[in-house]
Amino acid sequence: MEKSALIAGLEALLGKDRVLTDEQVILDCSKDYIGFRVYERFDGRFDVPRAACVVKPKNTNEVSAALRFLNEYKVDTVPRTGGSSVTLGLEPQEGGVILDGSDMNEIIGLNEYDMMVTVRCGTPLAYLENYLNERGYTTGHQPQSLPMAQVGGLVATRSIGQFSTLYGGIEDLLMGLEAVLPCGEVVRIKNNPRRSVGPDLRHLFIGSEGMLGFITEATLKIFKYKPEDRWMNAYAIRHMKDGLALFREIMVEGYRPAVMRLHDEVEVETLFEGVAPDEYNLLLFVAEGPKPVADATGAFIDEAIRKYDYVDLGKKPVESWLVTRNDTCDDMDRPKYYKMRAVADTCEISAPWSVIGEIHSAVRERMPEELDNLVTVGGHSSHSYVQGTNIYFTFGYFLGMKGGEYARPDYMHVVKIIMEETLKRGGSIAHHHGSGKYRTQWMPEEHGSSYTLLYKLKEALDPNGIMNKGVLLVERE
Ligand SMILES: Cc1cc2nc3c(=O)[nH]c(=O)nc-3n(C[C@H](O)[C@H](O)[C@H](O)COP(=O)(O)OP(=O)(O)OC[C@H]3O[C@@H](n4cnc5c(N)ncnc54)[C@H](O)[C@@H]3O)c2cc1C
Repeated sequence: MEKSALIAGLEALLGKDRVLTDEQVILDCSKDYIGFRVYERFDGRFDVPRAACVVKPKNTNEVSAALRFLNEYKVDTVPRTGGSSVTLGLEPQEGGVILDGSDMNEIIGLNEYDMMVTVRCGTPLAYLENYLNERGYTTGHQPQSLPMAQVGGLVATRSIGQFSTLYGGIEDLLMGLEAVLPCGEVVRIKNNPRRSVGPDLRHLFIGSEGMLGFITEATLKIFKYKPEDRWMNAYAIRHMKDGLALFREIMVEGYRPAVMRLHDEVEVETLFEGVAPDEYNLLLFVAEGPKPVADATGAFIDEAIRKYDYVDLGKKPVESWLVTRNDTCDDMDRPKYYKMRAVADTCEISAPWSVIGEIHSAVRERMPEELDNLVTVGGHSSHSYVQGTNIYFTFGYFLGMKGGEYARPDYMHVVKIIMEETLKRGGSIAHHHGSGKYRTQWMPEEHGSSYTLLYKLKEALDPNGIMNKGVLLVERE
């Protein structure tokens, strides 16, 4: 469809003020925070396909009208809310449309008896959390991107928060939702504590990364918020494998601290300088809930760690982490590293306990062998389960000698090592950031024989293939 006809058609449906065509607005809405893109922007190399416009619906009816039109004319459509994507998930196709729900920003209802809150997709998580905290509640969902992310994007990426070991990921918190299918049809999944009525349809949208529809509304669980009753403590532990064994024991014995972080000795040097003795790894714990439960969890941890080579660091490191943990969102263009011509970023995977330590070691051994410009590679475990945990690799590489054109190839080399070492051992290649458009090539191996189900879902719900091309599915000829 001609760009002018596309814009005129959308303006006729939603009004001129809802269809934005300014080039800078389009670029800002296509912005993604994956490390190499941040570097490219800093280096003046940012060149992504240009959408024809950004459409900002005010309500579900407008989302539906826009999608019906875009589907009829087979226009590529990228849903967007908070814009904190780190996976290229927001980058459009040339001439496509960005459907931005950030003006659909409203807390529709707080149900204190049934303990849930219903919001529109563009509600900022930070606003929602403040609103709830003031009333003595929390969603229990605290991703590092809390100052940026909005509820639609959190559901669409299968997000997880820093307190997940107690509260779970967004999949454990979402009660029900409203979404608009690519054909414009509005569907609603009601809010219930559990149901046995067939496959759980919420999961068609949780983690769908905008490829099956547009999420317009979500209902999340809420919990009592009593930070004054927390137990917290930090320890240094000599061996990473001991830290992982301790985490396993805590989970297997039935304890659920909200926060359980194990940073390897590399990250202690790069992120927590001076907090733990040299060569030691750092453990941070927060237990919350009813005070006797939090204290019992703390007492177990304090006893269980005694069999290892460890140092008790008291609660100060946890208190300061709680204050600074989301500071990175204040300066997302990271001039600190980038002025030194280095790219720094993270990449997260998960695996069962039996192999997670091996993956961590294998990645740390292989990366310096293959990248002669590597500055650092470390990692931490921050989301644990009875059966295993995640590793969030942090890495940095220097581009000074090579030049900015290597930002992406070197980045993808780093990611390839992490993906291969994870897949080789049966782990999962994305713990919570999603596939976006940069991990898609590894999705066939990740999903194995079940991958065909994703294509079938796509064909059924989005037969014209208009929704967020390039995420999750390898394009077929
Ligand atoms: C500094 C930083 C820290 C981060 N920390 C975490 C973390 O701790 N945990 C975590 O899980 N993630 C984290 N992320 C990643 C990111 O914040 C999450 O993926 C978040 O859930 C995205 O929400 P958003 O509203 O910003 O979505 P967007 O960036 O707007 O979109 C993300 C994806 O969701 C799709 N989408 C957006 N809105 C909708 C909708 N209404 N309907 C359908 N699809 C939609 C988009 O097409 C895109 O594919 C971090 C990112 C940054 C930059």
